[in-house]
Amino acid sequence: MSFIFEKEETIALLKQLVEIPSPSGYTKEIMDFMEKILADLQVTYQRTNKGALIATITGEDDYKHRLLTAHTDTLGAMVKEVKSSGRLKLTMVGGFNWNAVEGEYCTIHTADGKRIRGTILMHQTTVHVYKNASGLPRDENNIEVRVDEKVTNAKETRKLGIEVGDFVSFDPRFEETESGFIKSRHLDDKASTALLLQLIKYIQENKVTLPNTTHFYISNNEEIGYGGNSNIPEQVTEYIAVDMGAIGDGQASDEYTVSICAKDSSGPYHYELTRQLVDLAKHENIDYKLDIYPHYGSDASAAIRAGFDVKHALFGPGIEASHAYERTHVESLEQTAKLLFAYVNSKLL
Ligand SMILES: [Zn+2]
Repeated sequence: MSFIFEKEETIALLKQLVEIPSPSGYTKEIMDFMEKILADLQVTYQRTNKGALIATITGEDDYKHRLLTAHTDTLGAMVKEVKSSGRLKLTMVGGFNWNAVEGEYCTIHTADGKRIRGTILMHQTTVHVYKNASGLPRDENNIEVRVDEKVTNAKETRKLGIEVGDFVSFDPRFEETESGFIKSRHLDDKASTALLLQLIKYIQENKVTLPNTTHFYISNNEEIGYGGNSNIPEQVTEYIAVDMGAIGDGQASDEYTVSICAKDSSGPYHYELTRQLVDLAKHENIDYKLDIYPHYGSDASAAIRAGFDVKHALFGPGIEASHAYERTHVESLEQTAKLLFAYVNSKLL
């Protein structure tokens, strides 16, 4: 059966996903949204104690299973301190550079459910006052949130309901260009999440019979290292993390192909399974790049570390400027979608 990539639908879904705030640890809203989609697609699923979702489609062979995962959690921050000025000191959730969010609009999520707007700035931003601000380190001490409310001290800020431990999410600033680029924060890994949901939808609507029972694991703790590393059914023999390809100097990955990872910081991925993915890509005329990611770990490597006896592999769309204001091209989404479809219809090793 041939696969049709629903471009407009996929991009519209991706836009919806990036616009739901979901820093690691604050993922209930996005996971409720995901659950609703899975329920509408009439696929069976379970929700784990950690808040992840595992959807399962029974295949011809229900003895050996495969699993694919993508994560909905993103980078974000938490209020570390309410400063005497009424502004907020932040602590990072996930790993990024402060300069990647400097100037970004943000939302503070208070315990009583309010959403208060703000901007992430260097304390010494005003050029007419601070002379040598460009050389100052972008760090927890200099970066702060300017709250968009009439506050001048800690007491007034606290009165708004803002407290230490409140989550702070960054605006995604989603944009689709006529040239086919998608620019947004959180394409890691909501681009892959959108592709997995679209794949489930295609399978359900076209009544595709899969060769093996297949689990779709929507994880919500990847950016902090322990996403899909529990609740893996014991029949699973192959575990695929669908996550971003890393682009930069010396990298093979780009924004137009699907990136297959041979090795990252966690070590080599399962060699034969990785070769199988390359063979599938060649056979199906899918544009791919085989690559090595220097500073990277995935939910597949987290599962291996947690002690699961699975063959693991990693592939996904190429994402430029990761953990900052990211970008990819619709061609990369399409090639990834094609490899996903080819893989779930292939024989297990
Ligand atoms: Zn990721």
